[in-house]
Amino acid sequence: MRKKIIAANWKMNMTSGEGVSFMEDLKLELKNFDGAEIVIIPSFTALPRLSEIISELPGITLGAQNMWHEPSGAFTGEVSAGMLREFFTRYVVLGHSERRIIFGETDELVNKKVKAAHAASLRPILCVGETLEERDADRHHEVLAKQLKGSLAGLDAEQMLDTVIAYEPVWAIGTGRTATPEQAQEAHAFIRKTLAEIFDPATAAKVRIQYGGSVKPDNAKELLHQPDIDGALVGGASLDPRSFAKIVQAAARK
Ligand code: PEP
Repeated sequence: MRKKIIAANWKMNMTSGEGVSFMEDLKLELKNFDGAEIVIIPSFTALPRLSEIISELPGITLGAQNMWHEPSGAFTGEVSAGMLREFFTRYVVLGHSERRIIFGETDELVNKKVKAAHAASLRPILCVGETLEERDADRHHEVLAKQLKGSLAGLDAEQMLDTVIAYEPVWAIGTGRTATPEQAQEAHAFIRKTLAEIFDPATAAKVRIQYGGSVKPDNAKELLHQPDIDGALVGGASLDPRSFAKIVQAAARK
């Protein structure tokens, strides 16, 4: 039984003060909720204050949006896994399409980061997904397999169990255009099959695979009840505590 995991990727939005008031509202919206694991992923600068608040909220954990793979050194502007662990950060998003496209991150670099995250006991949320051009050319399986094999190279099964995959079709991120539940399910089943080939079927059956791409309160339930969809990575709709709470609640409803 895979516990659903719903993550709020705030991207470069929200100061730490805004994050604190978001958490106050979310707490009221989700009183005693324990139907899914919730991960709040703010900017680096909001991690210290949110860490204090989240440490007192069962079922909610903290994530970071990125990191560098070296432990320390001359890497101006970067943050290491150890620095994230200082604030009890549990997850780190790696290989988000915005990092791949805007900042030129390759599978090889993402793989180094995935390994460095595990070495520091941080759980990667590894993002994979095809562009619209690749989907239209019916190449999404090829692209997903390449990203998975490249980004997960050298991991053992135990580390894979501590890794979350986020399937985020690039054409659905921030566009308001969601994959249909059938398209998302088909891609998730393909990802699970690929994980079974890279690792083994028992490991693949236990890995949580989130869907991301314009998830909103009105489409969350149908997506989240597909057999291979184990949660959501939410961007835009995670900036409003009421919308985000509705998505979290959709994960628990039958
Ligand atoms: C994301 O950034 O991971 C994302 C899925 O964004 P949105 O929900 O806004 O499409």
